[in-house]
Amino acid sequence: MSKLRNNESTDPVGKEEDIELQLRPSGFDEFTGQQKIVDNLKIYIAAALRRGEPLDHVLLTGPPGLGKTTLSHIIANELGKSIKTTSGPVLEKAGDLAGLLTNLEDGEVLFIDEIHRLSNVVEEYLYSAMEDFRIDIMIDSGPSARTIQLQVPKFTLIGATTRAGLLTAPLRSRFGIPNRLDYYNTEDLTKVVIRSARILNVGIDSEGAVEIASRSRGTPRIANRLLRRGRDFAEIKGKGIINKEIAKMTLEALEVDAAGLDDMDKRILLNIINKYDGGPVGLNTIAVAVGEEADTIEEVYEPFLIQQGFLQITSRGRAVTPMAYKYFGLDKFKAIDNSLFS
Ligand code: ADP
Repeated sequence: MSKLRNNESTDPVGKEEDIELQLRPSGFDEFTGQQKIVDNLKIYIAAALRRGEPLDHVLLTGPPGLGKTTLSHIIANELGKSIKTTSGPVLEKAGDLAGLLTNLEDGEVLFIDEIHRLSNVVEEYLYSAMEDFRIDIMIDSGPSARTIQLQVPKFTLIGATTRAGLLTAPLRSRFGIPNRLDYYNTEDLTKVVIRSARILNVGIDSEGAVEIASRSRGTPRIANRLLRRGRDFAEIKGKGIINKEIAKMTLEALEVDAAGLDDMDKRILLNIINKYDGGPVGLNTIAVAVGEEADTIEEVYEPFLIQQGFLQITSRGRAVTPMAYKYFGLDKFKAIDNSLFS
């Protein structure tokens, strides 16, 4: 145990995770943005509490870092119940799921992250658990094979996924409360940055907060990370306060531009423009060209580029928009003209 602690304290990733935990809002009152989702959840939770029933199963979809895990903990807090967390790839066998479910208490919340990565077998067991709070376990094989039925406590499943499109229809239809989290606007992210700065005891002025918020790809996790880097710059290059100048210096050092695009965003767009004449081009080809996993491009980079209007997905692949050419000061038609004469 003490060894683990030592590792954690020297491991920068572990430290970042600790800070993330510290910054995680614990109630709806501290959770900024996603107003419609929050308003609806409050009503469903109040109604479930009044009826003395477990909350219906909740699905949270959306890109990483938007608050899916945070919301799950808040839901459990507001229900006055504890939460058990696991993730799709961890539940390898039906027995793993059965063990978890039978150990739940009535009304408890089970959080399954990356729920799109459940194996088919585990997913099928989950259906009856979600619907009827029972699981049929097959024991033995061959002629002596038989199933036994296990009752499980009435629980609330919260499933989270960055890849809503990969969920099977039967699983999706079993969630009574589906929610899609969207990127945050600058105003909401500014509030997130100011709240985090207060918790971390970092000096920041409103211009510095807006500068960080507007370049955080609409994502609280990124805003918090940029804030921490801003704190380093403020301490070493400034007077300990993150103002506009320090924020700009930080973002420049991290190669985050005015629109919040980072190095990989720009590489993706420029590769499509320069090597594939703006597209359409297949995802795997882009992945090889920029040296990043196709999954990561699809989960992390593309949703933001699409939302910002730089990229579109067509039936023949990914293509940049005229806005992307404009952004880099390029002219698509000039490029085509030149190629005709070369
Ligand atoms: P996800 O599960 O969607 O990847 P998390 O719930 O882990 O995202 O959120 C990442 C971090 O961002 C959290 O530690 C939390 O500090 C912060 N965060 C997310 N959403 C909000 C919010 N609405 N208000 C304030 N902070 C937030």
